[in-house]
Amino acid sequence: MKEHKREMDSLVELSSRQLLARRRRAFGRLPDLQGYLAGSLVEQARRCGKERCRCARGELHGPYVYLSVGKAAGRRSMVYLPEALAQLVRQKVIASEQAERLLTEISAINLELLSRRELE
Ligand SMILES: [Zn+2]
Repeated sequence: MKEHKREMDSLVELSSRQLLARRRRAFGRLPDLQGYLAGSLVEQARRCGKERCRCARGELHGPYVYLSVGKAAGRRSMVYLPEALAQLVRQKVIASEQAERLLTEISAINLELLSRRELE
């Protein structure tokens, strides 16, 4: 992340032509945004609540994979992912994080172009 910050700082040192080339590259690396899915994967072990179960003695069930998504009423909501879906969702979440980084970079480039009055 620190490296990313440094990249952003260095934009002022690039020529406008370099900025445009960099923006084009960032845009070209954007994944298919139809699959965009914001959230993060978390693994949790759980108790089932049955008194005589091994989980009551600390041997929890799982871990189970959840998609943790935006806050609703102050608490994050968790979507359970059966194993058959976990890999697909993991790929989409990773691609979405990459898309966010690229869009942040594109925005920073456009901001720099704006400050030069060269945004079109
Ligand atoms: Zn149990």
